[in-house]
Amino acid sequence: MANIGYIQVVRHCNHLCGFCSNPSTPYVHTFESMKTLVDDLVAREYFGVILTGGEPTLHPELPRIARYASDVGLHVRMITNGSRLANPEFAREMAEAGLKLVHISVYSVRPEVEAMLRGVADTLESAFAAAANAHRFGIEVNVNCVINKLNADHLDETIAYWMKEHPYIRHFVWNNLDPSMGRAETNQAQFTPRLAEFEVSLDRAMRLLHRSGRTFRVEKVPLCYMTDFAWASTETRKIVKGEERVVHFLDDKQTVRQTLWGHAYAPACDGCSLREICGGLFDRGDAYDIAELSPVFVSRDAVVESILRDPHDPSFRQRWQSLAAWQKDFDARPKDTSTAEERAKGPPKDPNAPAVGEVTDRGVRLYQARRKSEAVRAEHLGVAMEHGALPTPDGKR
Ligand code: SF4
Repeated sequence: MANIGYIQVVRHCNHLCGFCSNPSTPYVHTFESMKTLVDDLVAREYFGVILTGGEPTLHPELPRIARYASDVGLHVRMITNGSRLANPEFAREMAEAGLKLVHISVYSVRPEVEAMLRGVADTLESAFAAAANAHRFGIEVNVNCVINKLNADHLDETIAYWMKEHPYIRHFVWNNLDPSMGRAETNQAQFTPRLAEFEVSLDRAMRLLHRSGRTFRVEKVPLCYMTDFAWASTETRKIVKGEERVVHFLDDKQTVRQTLWGHAYAPACDGCSLREICGGLFDRGDAYDIAELSPVFVSRDAVVESILRDPHDPSFRQRWQSLAAWQKDFDARPKDTSTAEERAKGPPKDPNAPAVGEVTDRGVRLYQARRKSEAVRAEHLGVAMEHGALPTPDGKR
């Protein structure tokens, strides 16, 4: 299994997205506390690690932890807004530290839309420079995009731009907005799209990429909104391959281990041919409408075979020699017996995981100062701050 774990190395950021689901916290990481989490992923026999945040490049020890993770055999990846990788020296340093793949996050190539979503003007140029620098120093570049109300109608325009101006980028990832946490929760009405709002532009974007031989993944989008490309659904691939995911959250959630990939389903889903391998509607946060789902009648086996036979997938190991062998294994796996309420809460905390970072006096003071300045910026931008009481300097909340 090519399981990949996430480590949030910081939670602060130099941008202020109104739909950030992982905003600042008082927790801080040292090199040693990050090393413990890398070791945890190695002990779980994971294939790789994604260093994320907040904006991970703001941690002064990022190159060092990337080097350590690489040395112990993990495939090292990072999700970033690109602001620091725009500096070629930093890109070189990360490449030399063992960073193999970077996901650069861009929501829209329309400057005015990107500025509204990022809370900072003129970020596109640094994202483009980051992509070019990473490519120059041998780091594979992917582009990540959170689907939201403001970019929903032109996802294809953004893809066409990347294909024309940065033809070396071969893989793209869309995440539909998670409206259950952070500022995404407090600004649901402003940013959460209806599925129908992005259906056409997402389909156009996927067709552009597929025709060009590029690959892509889509998370939190039910298969009835991407039926022709159902094999590209992150949840569907995890369900088919029986994969899990660990996220080391740098907050009170700490470590979460996700083994189940189904969200919410409508009564109509019972008649859908893809029900068994579909993640359904992402219902955490109660912002999407289950009435938007409608059953499809395509071959489930064709979707499964596309996933099993994908040679670009790092988990491609010929584990299942045939569809029948996969079906036998699939049937033998424990079934998801969780209730809708349990699923809406999200995966549980992993009680066996090590502590993720710590709350120090200095961390609390920095957090308080950041939160005050972020509140001023948020008011100026017209977005609400995330919920959360400020802790006292002794760490109590
Ligand atoms: S109808 Fe339900 S099971 Fe079928 S694709 Fe849509 S969400 Fe998935």
